[in-house]
Amino acid sequence: MFDGTLIEKFKSRITPFFYYDLEVLDRTLEEVKKHGIAKGYHIHFAMKANNNHRILEKIKDAGLGVDCVSGGEIRKALEAGFSPNQIAFAGVGKTDQEMEIGLNADIFSFNCESLQEMEVLNQLAKKLGKKATVAVRLNPNIAAKTHKYITTGKNENKFGINPQNLQELFSKLPEWKNLELTGIHFHIGSQILDMQPYVDLCAKANEYNRIFEENGVELKHVNLGGGLGIHYDTPDKDDIPNFELFFSTFEDHLELKEGQQVHFELGRSIVGQCGNLISRVLFIKEGVNTNFAIIDAGMTELIRPALYQAAHNVEVLTSEKPQKKYDVVGPICESSDTFRYGVEIPEVNRGDLVAIQSCGAYGQVMSSDFNLRERAATVYSTEL
Ligand SMILES: *Cc1c(COP(=O)(O)O)cnc(C)c1O
Repeated sequence: MFDGTLIEKFKSRITPFFYYDLEVLDRTLEEVKKHGIAKGYHIHFAMKANNNHRILEKIKDAGLGVDCVSGGEIRKALEAGFSPNQIAFAGVGKTDQEMEIGLNADIFSFNCESLQEMEVLNQLAKKLGKKATVAVRLNPNIAAKTHKYITTGKNENKFGINPQNLQELFSKLPEWKNLELTGIHFHIGSQILDMQPYVDLCAKANEYNRIFEENGVELKHVNLGGGLGIHYDTPDKDDIPNFELFFSTFEDHLELKEGQQVHFELGRSIVGQCGNLISRVLFIKEGVNTNFAIIDAGMTELIRPALYQAAHNVEVLTSEKPQKKYDVVGPICESSDTFRYGVEIPEVNRGDLVAIQSCGAYGQVMSSDFNLRERAATVYSTEL
């Protein structure tokens, strides 16, 4: 991914910075088109993973919609040129103001997560003279076999409506004159590489599809969340996620009724591998049991290791010396500000450049100015 000319261009830049390889993004989107959109599936990009304008533009041009989780994201989606009927609005805690932004824009769908939220949405829609299209998010109680902090579809998670509240939902529906229930929505977690949770999810979706029909609700769409994972350990070999397997799993296991649309929400799998965090080694320190390579990027640029114990591949760009073992750490005053523990990489010295790979999703968007650090710059491959 990083050839000599590119590395030369990196050398003159102030680090750390985010480097986006738009060619990787293009190839990823081609696969999504080929295996998803071509089958008639509707794909919404989860904007919370990355909201850089250039990236949104490419995603829009590829024909994807968006999945927003705040009023700010809805505004940004509209600014980026997405059509309101491509915008889904998810989130367990939408404020009145945010719901009004969505109502005023006539978005495709509010993915509602509680009966109280539906009650409030109905009132707000009535006030604005609107009719909101709603998908109810159901908690399918499925283990996604991923990290605990990114599992969302188990009973103990805060997300979605539990089956025991369904009868109440059906009985209240006729009262909510400003809501139109058009879909069901599921999201079981993120970074899912094993297809079995998706097979289980299809079985649940089929079951709920029947239950809604039996209760007189005609569903126009089924929205299946549960983000396909990426290979953090082998980003060069596996730069494009296996969308063929992902979409065919749903094709094989979903039982749809006449005319029903299928929607997916994908974030990480679309943008994860196109982003890299380029950083410089500041100092080397010999520890008691390890060596520390102290770099100029930290949890302020990439919090995933500190937040989810994520391990990103650290690629040394400017040294081909024999391997040595390091803890690769950032400069922030937190012990969790560590990218890798005990990783074997070519020996590095002050000034060497490293790339922390697979940073396109939940990297830059989660960055902060903690310690009053300046925000890292954004560099696109097409600008170099
Ligand atoms: C975060 C999120 C997504 C995207 O998840 P990825 O794992 O990044 O694909 C999709 N839908 C909902 C409701 C989400 O909260």
